This record gives sequence, C-alpha cells and structure tokens, in this order.
Amino acid sequence: MLRNDQLDQWDRENFFHPSTHLAQFARGEAPNRIITGGTGSHIEDREGNRLLDAFAGLYCVNVGYGRQDIADAIAEQAKELAYYHAYVGHGTEASITLSKMILDRAPDHMSKVYFGLSGSDANETNIKLIWYYNNILGRPEKKKIISRWRGYHGSGLMTGSLTGLHLFHQKFDLPLSQVIHTEAPYYYRRDDVSMSEDQFVAHCAAELEAMIEREGADTIAAFIGEPVLGTGGIVPPPAGYWEAIQPILEKHDILLIADEVVTGFGRLGTMFGSEHYGLKPDLITIAKGLTSAYAPLSGSIVSDKMWKVLEQGTDENGPIGHGWTYSAHPIGAAAGVANLKLLDDLNLIANNREVGGYLNKTMTEALGHHPNVGEVRGEGMLCAVEFVKDKDSRTFFDAADKIGPQIASALVADNVIGRAMPQGDILGFAPPFCLTRAEADEVVEKTCRAVRAVL
Ligand code: PLP
Repeated sequence: MLRNDQLDQWDRENFFHPSTHLAQFARGEAPNRIITGGTGSHIEDREGNRLLDAFAGLYCVNVGYGRQDIADAIAEQAKELAYYHAYVGHGTEASITLSKMILDRAPDHMSKVYFGLSGSDANETNIKLIWYYNNILGRPEKKKIISRWRGYHGSGLMTGSLTGLHLFHQKFDLPLSQVIHTEAPYYYRRDDVSMSEDQFVAHCAAELEAMIEREGADTIAAFIGEPVLGTGGIVPPPAGYWEAIQPILEKHDILLIADEVVTGFGRLGTMFGSEHYGLKPDLITIAKGLTSAYAPLSGSIVSDKMWKVLEQGTDENGPIGHGWTYSAHPIGAAAGVANLKLLDDLNLIANNREVGGYLNKTMTEALGHHPNVGEVRGEGMLCAVEFVKDKDSRTFFDAADKIGPQIASALVADNVIGRAMPQGDILGFAPPFCLTRAEADEVVEKTCRAVRAVL
C-alpha cells in the first residue's frame, strides 16, 4: 500500500479530476478525499471516516455499496469472458439477457436497446439516431434539438450543448448551433411570482409553441427532457407540465427523448419516470441505475416507431455506422443483470417509495419554515432544499456567497454527504434505495445542524 503522503502527492501531480477547480487543487488549496470502501448507504475514506452517502455517489449507486451478488457476477464474467465486441451480430449471454430484462421493464412501445458506457454517450447516440431517422424519412432540414435551461444531459460536445447550465458551456464554445433551449419547468424560480402553477405551465407550453413557430417545425427534430430536472436543481415539474408539453410535440412531429439517466430503474418510485408522468418517449436514455454504477454501462431504448425507420435505413444504405468498442461490454452487462435482479429480489423500489416519502416529509417539516429556506421539494428518493437570502421577497444569495457549498461542507464534516447543486444554493439528496428511516432521520438532523452552522 502507498503511504498517504505519496498518494496525496501523486494525486495532485498526476490526476486530472473532473468538475474540479484545477488550480486550487494542484496548489493544495482544495481538499482531496480518498475513498476506500463502502457498504449499504455508507462509504469509508482513508482517514477512517464512515460517511452516510445521501447522494449515492452521483445518484447512481442505487442498490447501495458492497453488494456481493453484483461483485460475484462481475468476477465470474471477467474470468469466463472479459470481453468480446457486439458488432455485426456478436453478443454474450449477459448482454442478450440484459436487453430482454430492460425491454420487459420499459414502456410497451419500446423495441430495442443500444448499449453505451455513459449517459453522455447514450445521448450522443440518441441525437445521431434522430438525425439518421429524419434523413431516411427524407427531411434533412429537421435536425434541431430543443432542450431546457437547467437540463443536464452530459458533457460531450453535443450533450454538453443539450445541457442547459452555464458552467458546462463557458469557454467551451457551447452550445452548438443545432441546440436551442426553452424555459425550465421550475415553478419556484418563475420570473413572474404572481403566476399560479397552472398559469406557469401554460406559460412554459406557450414558450415552447412560440419557439417552434419561430424556428419552423420542419427544422426541429426532437425535444429532450429529464422527467424530473436533476443536476439543474432537483426540480419535479409542476402538475400538468408533461401533459401540456407532449401534445405540442406530437402536433409538430417532434420526437421526445426522455433522459432517464437519473430517474430510470426506480428513483422516482416507479421503474421509469416515463411511467410516473405518463410519457410516451421515442427514446429513453438509461445509465447510472442500470448497473448501480458497479460497472460503466448506458443505453438508448428505441421505440417501435423509430426502429422501423432504422431498419429501413439499413436496407437502403447497409449497416448502421455507429458503434463503440465497449458497446454492451460483457462485464457491464453482467453487472446490469445482477443489479436489476437485486432491485426486484430486495423490493428496493418499494423501499425507495416508502423511505423517500419519509425523507421528503421530515425534511419539509424540519426546514420548510426556516427563514432562509425557499423550498423543500422532491419526488421518490430525490430531495432538495433551496436556500434564499430573503424568503418573502424571494431574493437569492450571490453565487460568491457560496451558501450551498458551505452547507454541503458543514454536512460532510458531520459525516453525511449531500450535494451542492451547480447552479443556485440548492442542497440535493439522492440516497441509495436501501436507505433506512433511521438513516433518513440522520440526514435531516445533520442537515439542520449544517444549516444552523452557516446561516
Ligand atoms: N443525463 C442525465 C439526466 C444525467 O444526470 C447525467 C449525469 O449526471 C447524464 C445524462 C450524463 O451521464 P454521464 O455522466 O454518465 O455521462
């Protein structure tokens, strides 16, 4: 084992950490944390701290840490066959079984699953499939993608463009020109505070319709949205939002991508967020909860309607020119099979509904009336607390005050991990589905303590 000082030095000298202040980290001004293990809802760090991970890594370790079944499935697959590709009809029992398990759980009108490695590459795949689809249908102008401000869809060139958060655009020359952003269904942050929820939903729908009129429906291919906004602030849509948006898309023949990287496989208390909100997507993006992050794997679930056109395309043009070396990697697929089985066997989605509801209720009771808490909101095993300088006038803190990050730091010092969401002073929680009521109580109690320490 490496000595701690050696590890620290190598970390600062060699490791390019994502989403990190590079200069501060290199100078040793920002802390590092080296994680050594995990079981259930907890992780351990090198200093021996045991932390309650109320964000499940990056909302991905849904079944919890240290699951022997998944570790065994990975080890057996690695010993038997670590790799073979999936090009030109090749497959493994694990990848074929996982495809079947996913389709069995997905909405009825979905047809096939294409595997990738990350949520970002799955969304890149989605956009390529949509462009291919419209080219095959003889409408090469229909290519623009509508995304929402505060949406998060990855950080590649296209997916970073789809993402509607300033941090992911600045100095990267994003967004690309094919992407346009519309209003986020974020009722608490509506411009006109006098609007009722219904009026705000009508306003979001009218904005979308006006954008489509302005750009021309024949130039717009698809709309991408997370059923519940995640990284943009953990924001469930106001009632009636999706019911208002979907008919507009249908009317203008605009495809719907439901980005279920966070919501897929149970986080909202249903298998898919599409089920929860009555969505009928043409593509569903999956990642995180597919393997509970025991191995990297993502997917694009393709509808019957799109699949027929993709088949037609290959009859006309030959094999589809899209593939990754690691598409349907057998180790990821084996992890996925074991993970989905565990989700069922341990009834984890039901626990998620029960304990997620409890977490949201107790957090609301504990902090809803705090003068600096604008809103406590959530759905399933997602919960967020939004901080404001003045509640009555809904005045926000300056970003430079770093209220969200300060509260998250105070919380982690008390051995609970929440996440300061990147835009706004929002503390997010997305615990593993195995969270117990006692652990939920600990999250709430320590969050109150952290809020008291900072505000
Ligand atoms: N889509 C959503 C909704 C996400 O939350 C994320 C990641 O958090 C992604 C896509 C990108 O996934 P990845 O980080 O695996 O590329």
